[in-house]
Amino acid sequence: MIVTRFAPSPTGQLHVGNIRTALHNALLARKAGGRFMLRIDDTDAERSREDFVEAIRADLDWLGLTPDGEERQSARLALYEQAFERLRAAGRVYRAYETAQELDLKRKILLGRKLPPIYDRAALDLTDQDHAHFAAEGKAPHWRFRLDHGEAIAWDDGIRGPQHFDASAMSDPVVRRADGSWLYMLPSCIDDIDMGITDVLRGEDHVSNTAVQIQMFTALNAPPPRFAHEALLVGGEGKLSKRLGSTGVADFREQGLEPMAINSLLARIGTSQPVEAKQDMTALTDGFDLSTFGRAPARFDEAELLRLNAQLVHAMDHADAAPRLPEGMDEKAWLTIRPNLERVSDAREWWQVVTGPVECPELSDEDAAFVGASADAAEAMDWSDESGTWKALTEALKQATGRKGKALFLPLRLALTGIDHGPDMNALLPLIGRDRAAQRLRAAGSRPAA
Ligand code: GLU
Repeated sequence: MIVTRFAPSPTGQLHVGNIRTALHNALLARKAGGRFMLRIDDTDAERSREDFVEAIRADLDWLGLTPDGEERQSARLALYEQAFERLRAAGRVYRAYETAQELDLKRKILLGRKLPPIYDRAALDLTDQDHAHFAAEGKAPHWRFRLDHGEAIAWDDGIRGPQHFDASAMSDPVVRRADGSWLYMLPSCIDDIDMGITDVLRGEDHVSNTAVQIQMFTALNAPPPRFAHEALLVGGEGKLSKRLGSTGVADFREQGLEPMAINSLLARIGTSQPVEAKQDMTALTDGFDLSTFGRAPARFDEAELLRLNAQLVHAMDHADAAPRLPEGMDEKAWLTIRPNLERVSDAREWWQVVTGPVECPELSDEDAAFVGASADAAEAMDWSDESGTWKALTEALKQATGRKGKALFLPLRLALTGIDHGPDMNALLPLIGRDRAAQRLRAAGSRPAA
C-alpha cells in the first residue's frame, strides 16, 4: 500500500510550487490505490497560524485534492520526545552550545582557508564537567544529530536516479533548539515512520535533507521510504519568478480558473508527457508516471493555463457551469456562448450584452443613419438559421449600402452591444434576437448627433 504525504508549514498561503507537490503526491497515491495524507508542519509555534491551516485544507478541497487523513506535528510532540530519548541513549544526538555568532565565525575561518564550512563537532569533546559548567551558567544546549561517517548514503531517486552522499562532507544537523523546540528534519522522519509513509515526493531543494534523513531513518531502526525529488518550478519566461511564490488558489479563483486546468498543467509540466486539459482527476491519475519527470525546471506558463481553462470551458455542461452563470442564462445560451469563453466568468459580460440594456456611444450622422436604416433589414431577414444571422445581416447591408469592413461592422457592433469590441457577433446576435436587435439599431439611429 502506497502512502504519500503533503507536509506544508502553515506559515502562509500555499503557492503554485506547494500545490504542484500536493498534486503529485495525491496522484502518486491515488494511482496505486493508496493513501494521500496531509501533515501540518506546525512545530514553529510563532509563525504557524490556524487561519493558514484552514486555508490549506480549503485550497486542497477546492483543487480536488482532499487528503485521506491529516496529522499535525504540534499534536505529536510526545512521539518526538520518545524517539529523541532513544537516539540520545544510542548516542546519535549530542549537546552543543555554540552561539550563532560563534558558528558563523567558524564557518568564515574554514571558508577563508578554502575548506568546506562543515561543523567541526567540537561539542562532541565536551566533558561532563563542561556540561555542568554550562548548566551552572544557565546555558541550555541545543542538540545535533550525529551523522555516521562510516555509513555510505545512497538512494535510488524516483526522478534523479542513483544518488550518493558522503556523510563526512556534511554538518551534523541541529535537530532541537535550546528551548526544546524542534527543527524540521527529525520530526519529519519520526512522522514518516509513524504514519507509514512509503514514498516521499518533494522538491529538489530537499535533496541534501534526504541524505541526512536517510541516516535518521536508520538510526530510528526504520527502513527509509522511497524518495523522489522534482525539479523546481519556474515562470513562463523560464526564470524563478517572485510572482510564482505568491500566486495561489485565491488568485486562481479570482481569475475564474477551473481547478482541473491548474491540475492538468501542474501534473504534466516538467514531464515528457503532453500537457492536455483533463476533465477529472481520474484522467490525470491514469497517466501519472514519475519516470516521465525530467531534471530540467518545469515551466509554469499562465498563457498555457488559460488555454487549458478555455478547453475545459468549451466542453463544460450547462449543469456544471450553471451555479456560476448569470441568472436566466439557459442551456441554449450557454452552448452558444461557451465556445467563445476562456473562463466561465466571462459569460457575464456576454449575458449583459444579450439582455441589455446597452447604450450606444455617439455615432457620426452618417453612421447613425446607417444603423437606424439597418433596423428594417434586421427585421425583414430570416432568423431561422441562427448561426448565420450576423452574416446574413451584414451581407444584406453590404449589398444595400456598399459599406464594408470596419465601416460596416463597427457601427453595427456599437449599436447592438454598446462597445467596440467583445464577444463574437456570430454567436451573440442570435441570442440578442430579432426584436432586441431591431430596437437597439433603431435607438442608436435616432440619437441626436452631437
Ligand atoms: N514542511 C516541509 C516543507 O514545507 C516539508 C518537507 C517535506 O516534504 O519533508 O518544506
